[in-house]
Amino acid sequence: MRKDSFISPDYFALDKLLSEENLLIRDVTREWVKSNVSPVIESAVQNDKFPMEFIKGLAEIGGFGPFLPEKYGGAGVDYISYGLMMQELERGDSSLRVLSSIQSGLVMKLIYQHANEKQKDKYLLSLSNGDNVGSFGMSEPNHGSDPSSMLTRFDDHGDYYLINGSKLWIGQAPICDLALFWARNNNDEFGLFLVERGFEGFETSKIKNKWGFRGSETGELIFNDLKLQKENLLFRTKNIQEMLSCLNIGRYAVAWGALGIAMDCYDCALKYSTERIQFGKKIASYQLVQKKLSDMITEITKIQILVWRLGKLMNESQATFEQISLAKRSSVSMASEVAVIARSILGGMGVTAEYPVMRHILNLEVLKTYQGTEEIHTLITGKSITGISAFRS
Ligand SMILES: Cc1cc2nc3c(=O)[nH]c(=O)nc-3n(C[C@H](O)[C@H](O)[C@H](O)COP(=O)(O)OP(=O)(O)OC[C@H]3O[C@@H](n4cnc5c(N)ncnc54)[C@H](O)[C@@H]3O)c2cc1C
Repeated sequence: MRKDSFISPDYFALDKLLSEENLLIRDVTREWVKSNVSPVIESAVQNDKFPMEFIKGLAEIGGFGPFLPEKYGGAGVDYISYGLMMQELERGDSSLRVLSSIQSGLVMKLIYQHANEKQKDKYLLSLSNGDNVGSFGMSEPNHGSDPSSMLTRFDDHGDYYLINGSKLWIGQAPICDLALFWARNNNDEFGLFLVERGFEGFETSKIKNKWGFRGSETGELIFNDLKLQKENLLFRTKNIQEMLSCLNIGRYAVAWGALGIAMDCYDCALKYSTERIQFGKKIASYQLVQKKLSDMITEITKIQILVWRLGKLMNESQATFEQISLAKRSSVSMASEVAVIARSILGGMGVTAEYPVMRHILNLEVLKTYQGTEEIHTLITGKSITGISAFRS
């Protein structure tokens, strides 16, 4: 792969809206990606192998739980800094953003919100320094878009809970040291549980030969008569919306991450178009190529403004489930279109591992499904503006 000389597009001078801390976190993450990720990521992805050294590297740049208080291994950063970090990581590769955002937003944040002090002390520091890796399981083999129908069961047996079922498509499952997962009981209550690797009745497996997220370990969490102590039930609710709201921070991370991919594809295509000569002229001089580049920067700029505003709302605890959903869907959709246009500008070179564009296109195909499909997010927006749910009777 070529040397990573990424320069971020900033057509509307949005950097001026960022604080010094925002810029510092973005730039430190970008430099780490350039030095440590870009030189090895293409071969890791081609070989379907996650580079384990990324875990400690991410911990060193504060990539696990950065918005948590220092006492729990975080740095108390705001959500714009967190978003910028996700942008830079996913620009490097989706596998990095997946690792960081699952560990930060779905594992550490939920432990911070719902675990007791003893559990926080036991788990949060080891997750923040990368000694431990966490997974989060909501989706199941037969229930993805509709987690409210999940089959994983918990039954109260007096001094312990008995768990049976499985969770599929789970990031980091094959390498996780602990996992948070949702299960349901016969009273239609949803429980959020914590399980450690090594507990009897808990196993994981790996999904091999994916065409997207190839740098990321994905697999299954399997519960076979798993007995969990009462304190391992971190939270319970009958309210589906309350259960689903835990996904907000993950979807927020995807909105920024997909933007990072789009920026990378645009940067590659712009540079290539000013170097590549056909018919005796740089291809950037042709009107059809300029139209493509103009469309790309226009769509990128709209999403840059959208996610920045969303970050501000997150900082004020004002961002809604529906706003985050809209941002996730529109950012992924924009990035998918931008990446395909970039690939066309690169011509044949666009399908090689010399450039990151084809790898990003395959990751974007996953992002359209991951953290809620495009269709489900469209219906969430539809419900919020009409007041009518198209997917729940
Ligand atoms: C690589 C990868 C990593 C993942 N990581 C995790 C993870 O770490 N943790 C986790 O819990 N999950 C994870 N997921 C799961 C992901 O969230 C689900 O794949 C997603 O929610 C969709 O579920 P499904 O695949 O079962 O598709 P389905 O729900 O079966 O959907 C199939 C199709 O039907 C459409 N559809 C369904 N219902 C409706 C409707 N009412 N109206 C219109 N269309 C509809 C969908 O939009 C989709 O196009 C991951 C998935 C992938 C691929």
